[in-house]
Amino acid sequence: MIYPIVAFGDPVLKKEAAELPKGEDIKQLASDMFDTMYNAKGVGLAAPQIGKSIRMFVVDAEGFDEEECKGFKKVFLNPEIIEEGDTEWAFEEGCLSIPGIREEVWRPETIVVQYFDENWKQHKETLTGINARVFQHEFDHIDGILFTDHLSGLKKRLNKNRLLGISKGRVDVDYRMKFPK
Ligand code: ZN
Repeated sequence: MIYPIVAFGDPVLKKEAAELPKGEDIKQLASDMFDTMYNAKGVGLAAPQIGKSIRMFVVDAEGFDEEECKGFKKVFLNPEIIEEGDTEWAFEEGCLSIPGIREEVWRPETIVVQYFDENWKQHKETLTGINARVFQHEFDHIDGILFTDHLSGLKKRLNKNRLLGISKGRVDVDYRMKFPK
């Protein structure tokens, strides 16, 4: 099932999402989230982006031509960032909930994360480069943070009208979106 993607301005995107009860069967939801993400040509999708305020996201960074991205197709349940490296780097990010806007965001290059997979097996991993980037963008979503929240005051002002336009449905995308009332 392909869900409509919640657009900027919907309060669910600003909310801290709830922990999943351990053992909850999320396999169908994960499969639907991958379908929804691929349909919109995304590399990550967090549950709040389909209107579900739970701490879950899916990523598939295999399309990036980087060594670390090989095999980086995963479901993350109740994830945590337990360590952040000192080095930050800038990378241009976009978001399926904020179509048409891309901006550079600074984030740590390396992070150590802990999470459960779709079988509720726990993992602890070090992520670097693009993988760490995608993880942090999606992790922000389950804390109610958008990449535009990381921008400077000037960039925020420059994007203000476009963001307002997105929240009012002024977008040109080939996937279905849900706009705030
Ligand atoms: Zn996003």
